[in-house]
Amino acid sequence: MQITANDPNRKSWLKVTDNSDFPIQNIPFGVFLTKEDITTIGTRIGDYAIDLGALHQLGYFKGIPLTDDIFMQDSLNDFISDGRKTWRLIRNRIADIFDETNSELKDNAKDLDIVVFNLNEVEMLLPVNIGDYTDFFASKEHATNTGTMFRDPENALLPNWLHLPVGYHGRASSIVVSGTDIPRPKGQTIPNDSKTPVFGPTRLLDFEMEMAFITTDVNHLGDAISIDEAEDYIFGMVLFNDWSARDIQKWEYVPLGPFLGKSFASTISPWIVTMDALEPFRVKSPRQEPKPLPYLLQSGDHGFDIKLQTAIKPQNQEETIVSNSNFKYMYWTMNQQLVHHTINGCNVRSGDLMGSGTISGPTKDSYGSMLELSWRGTTPVKLNNGEERKFINDFDEVIMRGYCKNDYIRIGFGDCIGKILPTK
Ligand code: CA
Repeated sequence: MQITANDPNRKSWLKVTDNSDFPIQNIPFGVFLTKEDITTIGTRIGDYAIDLGALHQLGYFKGIPLTDDIFMQDSLNDFISDGRKTWRLIRNRIADIFDETNSELKDNAKDLDIVVFNLNEVEMLLPVNIGDYTDFFASKEHATNTGTMFRDPENALLPNWLHLPVGYHGRASSIVVSGTDIPRPKGQTIPNDSKTPVFGPTRLLDFEMEMAFITTDVNHLGDAISIDEAEDYIFGMVLFNDWSARDIQKWEYVPLGPFLGKSFASTISPWIVTMDALEPFRVKSPRQEPKPLPYLLQSGDHGFDIKLQTAIKPQNQEETIVSNSNFKYMYWTMNQQLVHHTINGCNVRSGDLMGSGTISGPTKDSYGSMLELSWRGTTPVKLNNGEERKFINDFDEVIMRGYCKNDYIRIGFGDCIGKILPTK
């Protein structure tokens, strides 16, 4: 089926500014609360939120097989379960409804009033009910940086790293939507030169600049999928800040891996940008040497050129951009991560979320965490207001942004924001 929604020549009758992340070619999916306190599934064009539940009730999706309440829900899980064909039909239809050549809704003041809201009139909610969250460690630069810092610069990558996408099972319950404040977590840490731990607020609170993909129902327990079909099961992507307490992490992680140093919160951007919308921005992913085992081998372009940025904004002050990276640096692709996830028979379901791991680029200004930017606190990051940061302070806001751009269009993710509050 053609993705007619992606036509770069298309324009909407809704106003979209030149540098908007949300032109009519984006059509992401999210969940929001209207000012009448109604929760609905929606999309976004420019700075307008569009109520898909209302559109469906008014008959604008006629001819597309959908259950009556598919968009009148507090999560996208059921819609995602409907599969790629339905996602495409709906995006194509939305593009038609809002195309400048179509006045059906535009000239219907009564419908318009029910369907289209200013973005500032709605409250964005978590778009999916995340059943399971898995976090990978798929950036070679990030893995090399942390291996260099904590182990041995000569053998920075552990022996398994070039053979499989390393990952762990994270905590889904504490994933929050952009704009949610995060209290500084407390926990056990081990002071330098001590053998016994102390208890208190983390002193080394960090962000991890990641992206995450959201799946549809992939496989039944016991079955695995092949690399060639992996892409069919990926619905879309969000920005993902995987907050980390480095001092808690350092003391607790042996031998079973990350736990409370990670599970206190992770923040996602509210609009899921579909893989269909990202299609024009496909690029080659880094060459893999040694060649992966056959079940992970794929041909073609499976990376995506998504520019990523992280800024720190101290309270009542201007922000400072501290990192510029790109999703295309990921060594292991999303397809390889998903195939590896199911290869043992583990079932992956609609609404599951897979984090990429911190996305660091090759240069110092492209590192995706304060741990790397300040090199364990040895080279503090300078802010525009003259302050320095080794890690994140109370009342600092961390803002992540991501977008793709070519000669014709810009498709973006909006903001992924979280503010750190003093410990409770
Ligand atoms: Ca992470």
